[in-house]
Amino acid sequence: MSTKPPQSPPLRAAAEARLADARTPAPIRPAEELLHELQVHQIELEMQNEDLRRAQFALEESRDRYVDLYDFAPVGYLTLTDTGLIAEANLTGAALLGVDRVKLLHRHFSRFVTPEASDYWHLQFMRVLLRDDRQICELAMRRADGSRFHAHLDCLCRAAGDQLPRVRIALTDISARRHADEELRIAAIAFESQEGIMVSDSHGVIVRVNPAFTRLTGYSAFEAIGQTPALLRSGRHDKPFYDRMWQALRENGYWQGEMWNKRKNGKVYAEWLTISAVKTPEGETTHYVGTFSEITQNKEAQAEIHRLAYYDALTHLPNRRLLLDRLGQALASSSRSGCHGAVLFIDLDNFKTLNDTRGHAVGDLLLGEVAQRLQSGVREGDTISRLGDTISRLGGDEYVVVLEDLSLEAVEAAAQARAVGEKVRAALARPYDLDGREFHCTASVGITLFRGHEATLDALLKQADLALYQAKGAGRNCLCFFDPAMQSTLDEYSALEADLRLAVQRGQLQLYYQPQLDSARRVIGAEALLRWRHPQRGPIAPDVFIPLAEESGLILPIGRWVLETACAQIKAWSAHAATHDLRLAVNVSARQFRHADFVAEVKEVLAASGADPSRLKIELTESLVIDNVAETIARMRALKALGIGFSMDDFGTGFSSLSYLKRLPLEQLKIDRSFVNDLATDPNDAAIVQTIITMGHTLGLDVIAEGVETEAQLARLDQYGCTAYQGFLFSRPLPIAEFEAFLGL
Ligand code: C2E
Ligand code: CA
Ligand code: CA
Repeated sequence: MSTKPPQSPPLRAAAEARLADARTPAPIRPAEELLHELQVHQIELEMQNEDLRRAQFALEESRDRYVDLYDFAPVGYLTLTDTGLIAEANLTGAALLGVDRVKLLHRHFSRFVTPEASDYWHLQFMRVLLRDDRQICELAMRRADGSRFHAHLDCLCRAAGDQLPRVRIALTDISARRHADEELRIAAIAFESQEGIMVSDSHGVIVRVNPAFTRLTGYSAFEAIGQTPALLRSGRHDKPFYDRMWQALRENGYWQGEMWNKRKNGKVYAEWLTISAVKTPEGETTHYVGTFSEITQNKEAQAEIHRLAYYDALTHLPNRRLLLDRLGQALASSSRSGCHGAVLFIDLDNFKTLNDTRGHAVGDLLLGEVAQRLQSGVREGDTISRLGDTISRLGGDEYVVVLEDLSLEAVEAAAQARAVGEKVRAALARPYDLDGREFHCTASVGITLFRGHEATLDALLKQADLALYQAKGAGRNCLCFFDPAMQSTLDEYSALEADLRLAVQRGQLQLYYQPQLDSARRVIGAEALLRWRHPQRGPIAPDVFIPLAEESGLILPIGRWVLETACAQIKAWSAHAATHDLRLAVNVSARQFRHADFVAEVKEVLAASGADPSRLKIELTESLVIDNVAETIARMRALKALGIGFSMDDFGTGFSSLSYLKRLPLEQLKIDRSFVNDLATDPNDAAIVQTIITMGHTLGLDVIAEGVETEAQLARLDQYGCTAYQGFLFSRPLPIAEFEAFLGL
């Protein structure tokens, strides 16, 4: 302490007081006075000393506090020289740069700046120095160990007197904040995504929605916020659905699935929704974030595809594909339960008639009505069939019903199936009101039983079809069962096909001739009808083997043989006056007619035989013609050019339409024998026959009736203006010798 503290009257007074305390009463003699002065002075000095010590202590304390604050501040403090060397650093600063403070001093601060940011830093540093001013910047920095961080720098230039300026830097690590900013930016962009986003609080109250939400739901943010997602409920989900969803959210904090919701405009749509719970680190749910995208179109497309693939467009009944599917399931379930099931084939008896007389639209009405009756008639109050029973339409007027869970006993199961079959028949036999007109229709039913996988799907359908075929054969409005005897019929079929292959070479085929007569009962020609004389079975009717021949392709060699034989016969007849003018009609099947070489083949056969083409008539069916009208017409024209005539066989049973009929180069219509058969009894059929004859005349075609069995039929036909006849009334189809005998030769 070199400087003398100035004397102050209070100090003096205090010293005096202290001295008086020590020695009372006060002396007044001069020597004593001097001593007194000295003593006071000494005390004064002591007191001054004490003050100074206290001041120094306070000073030291505050310096320590400052150093602590400086060193342990949450911010790094660095002081740089004007050349950028680190002159001072607090502990935080050293820690931020990852270097011990001692080692930090005199190193270039720029060493801690990443190379990419280095230019930018120099610019900032120069600015601070030159403008003598504060600069704030953010900088990518690099620690001694190479790791990087983002720093916020607050730089200040300090120049004291003539000293060189120094730059003080307050350095903060803002990596975390930068990261959070980035996250926020990403979140903000995500929030603007195409997906609808809805954030709700833990009570389910909506707190935020994005623009996509508004686009998808129709609700603005203003309308949605404060509401709960119940705003969107479509009513398509039951309570258990939502319960399951909340349970999953509680347990896993997550739910995902399809949901039907309702837009503001009332339209229901499907969305794919993901809900995540937002939780605090302690596990408490604070928010739910739901993101969704619309999938209605997908779903609609899916449903449409499903509908097209599995349902019949006309009746909305399952189609063949779905039937097979369901039948497969039925077999599986039957093999588990041991219960029998049944397949019912149902075919309408007079559908073609309706289609032909009243048109397709009315035919469609009937098909739809039948579908409805099957659905209600089969199930209604029925203890046998159940709601799960499959009722399907195979196409045309064929329906299939699959019954499940019938009895364990075959006989009882058969009785149950028959009961349903009878019920179906009765339901379908009730009169129909079609477009204001009453229509009567019956149905034939073929039934087969199944149990487990004893028979394959295909076999089952074949069996039922066979039973139906039998039912049809037994007369209309019938019900028939497939039985093991029929199975052997099936087996016979394959054996038969094998035999048929050899029939042509072995000369087992024969042509029979059924006379065709005019109104005066004069024979004007014949229809050539094929017979197969099987070595073991004897004569086999073409209804049995022609379909086989069609399927196997054998119809081509067989058809050629028929043509050759017929032409040879025409040639033989041409030699006699009595047979010279006879026309011979030959049946040509679809597969044969469509064969690319058909026209050439006919020419060839005609040429080879030397037969007069004008004596040959080809019978075609309507179904053959309508399959490819243009192609058929071209082919018919080519043959007609040769002189061959055409008769439309089985007329009335197909899709008769005047429009195409007019375009065909036909010569004759042949009324199907089913119409002729019921002519006298069924007014409907009578009307059809009349129409056909009138139509034929209008088109300039002659009309022949086949299947004439009675005089009554003949009389009717004659009355309606028919001019040619064929049928058992006159003669059955006959071998050539008998035919010629019939002619009286
Ligand atoms: P389709 O062309 O309709 O032949 C008429 C069928 O009616 C013949 O049966 C004939 O015997 C039968 N029929 C004739 N008059 C009467 C009658 O008064 N009452 C009854 N109930 N039936 C009568 P078929 O000979 O059994 O021939 C059946 C079918 O086989 C033919 O029907 C035809 O589609 C086909 N077919 C016959 N021969 C040939 C052939 O050479 N080639 C082709 N592709 N098919 C043939
Ligand atoms: Ca025919
Ligand atoms: Ca016919």
